[in-house]
Amino acid sequence: MKSLLNSIQSLESISEALEPSLEQRNNYAKELQDFTNSFIATVESNKAFISGDADQQKLSVHSSKKSLSELLEIYNDEVVEKGLSPASGGHIGYIPGGGIYTASLGDTLASITNEYAGMYFGSPGAVTMENELLDWMKGVFGFPKEAVGNLTSGGSVANLIALTAARDKHQIKNEKVTQSVIYLSPQIHHCIHKAIRIIGLEDVQIRLLELDGYSRIDAKKLKETIAKDSAEGLNPFMVIASAGTTDTGAVDPLEQIGHIAQENNLWYHIDGAYGGFFVLSETKKHLFKGIELADSLVIDPHKGLFLPYGLGAVLVKDKEAVFHSHHYTANYMQDAVGGAQINPADVSPELTKHFRGLRMWLPLNLHGIEPFVACLDEKLLLTTYFREKLTAIGFKVGPEPDLSVSYFWYPESRVDQNDFNEKLMELIHKDGSVFLSSTKIEGKYVIRIAILSFRTKIVTVDKAIKMIEKCLAETKAAFGI
Ligand SMILES: *Cc1c(COP(=O)(O)O)cnc(C)c1O
Repeated sequence: MKSLLNSIQSLESISEALEPSLEQRNNYAKELQDFTNSFIATVESNKAFISGDADQQKLSVHSSKKSLSELLEIYNDEVVEKGLSPASGGHIGYIPGGGIYTASLGDTLASITNEYAGMYFGSPGAVTMENELLDWMKGVFGFPKEAVGNLTSGGSVANLIALTAARDKHQIKNEKVTQSVIYLSPQIHHCIHKAIRIIGLEDVQIRLLELDGYSRIDAKKLKETIAKDSAEGLNPFMVIASAGTTDTGAVDPLEQIGHIAQENNLWYHIDGAYGGFFVLSETKKHLFKGIELADSLVIDPHKGLFLPYGLGAVLVKDKEAVFHSHHYTANYMQDAVGGAQINPADVSPELTKHFRGLRMWLPLNLHGIEPFVACLDEKLLLTTYFREKLTAIGFKVGPEPDLSVSYFWYPESRVDQNDFNEKLMELIHKDGSVFLSSTKIEGKYVIRIAILSFRTKIVTVDKAIKMIEKCLAETKAAFGI
C-alpha cells in the first residue's frame, strides 16, 4: 500500500505540470496576448501570401521541451509566415472569411470549460445553445422549426450529412444505385463529388446540367433532362443547386429548381456554403427566393459570418432521414438517451466534438447582427469597386456577379492570352501583397477575386490594383511586349 501511494505521489509530482499555476497561466495569457496583438497590428501590412516550404525538423515533436516563447517563435516563422494568410484582408482568393477576434474568445472558453456538446445529458446548456443557433439559421432561411441541423467542422461535412439523408430518404442502395440520377451543375463544389463517393453512390448517374451565360443552372434544361431520364426508366432522386458557386459566385434559380424538384419528387439540396449568408443583405434577398423549398441546406459561418475556420452548418427538414444513418444508441450511453433537445451526435458522424457553437454564439450576441450585415454589404460594394478599377486599367471582367466573386483577364492579343494571364497570376503570387487565385471559365484562364474577408477594405482593393498594375508591366516585359 505504501509503495502504491509513493508511486502515485511521484507520478503526481510530474503530471501536475499539466495544471499550470495561476501565475503561469497569467504569464502564458500575457505572452499569447502580446503575440496575437502584434499579429493583428501587422497582418494588413504583411504579405497575404508567401511561398516556401515549412521546416519539418522545427515542427517535429521529437525534440526536447521548449518554452512558450520559443514555441511562439517557431509558430510565427514556420506557420504564420508561410503560405496563405487567411486572416489577412488581402486574402481575396478561394473563399476567405478572415476570422473575427471575438470568436477566439468563444474557442478559448469552450476549450477551458471543455463542455460536452455531443449529448444533451452531458451539457444541456451547450446543446441548447447550438440548437438555438440552428433555429436562428432556420429563421434566416425560412426553414420550419421542426427541421434538424448540425454545426459541423465546415461545408464539406455539412454537405456529407445532407447527401446521406437524401440517399436514405430515397433508399438508394443495392441495384437501385446505378439506375438513380443526381442533377447538378458542373460548377458544383468538389466536396459534393467527394460526398457522393464517400456515401457509396459512386455508381449513380450524374447529370452535369447546362448553364446560362451567368453560370447558373438552366432550369428549363433541367426539367427536360429529368423528363427524358424518367421516360427511360431511370430513377431521378436528387437535384443540387448552389446559392453562390465557388468559381463565379453564381446563384442558381433556386425557386424554379425547387418547383421542378417538387413536381418530380426529388430531394432538393442547396449548397450555400459560400453565398448563403448574403440572404441577410437587403440588396440580394431576391436571389435567395425559393431557398426555403430545399430539403437540405448547407451554409458556412466560417465564410459568410467571418468566423475562423472550423464552422459549417447543415439544415435538413426530414429528421428521420438524418436519423437513419446518424442516430445511434449504445449500452455505455444508456444514461444519455432522451432529453429535451436533439443531440448533435444524432445528426452527425461525430460523437465527441469541439463545442464549436460558442465561437458563433458569443460574437453574434456580443456585436448583434448589424455589423455582420453591414460587412456583407460592404463586400458587395467592394466587388463593384474592384471591377470598375480593373476595367479602368484595361482588364476585361466577367459578367456582373450575383455576389462577391468575380473574375478578370487581360485581353492580350499579341501572345497566347491564356499563357499571358497564367504568367500574370504567377507574378501576382510571387508578389503576394494580396492573394488572388485563378480558374478556367470555358477554357479561358481567368483570375478570380473573392471578397469575403471582414478585413478586406477599400485600401486593400487599392493595394491589389497597384500590385496588379506592377505585375502586368512585369508580365509584358517577360513576353517582350
Ligand atoms: C467552401 C465551400 C464548400 C466546402 O466547405 P468547407 O467549409 O471548405 O469544407 C462547399 N461548397 C461551397 C460552395 C464552398 O464555397
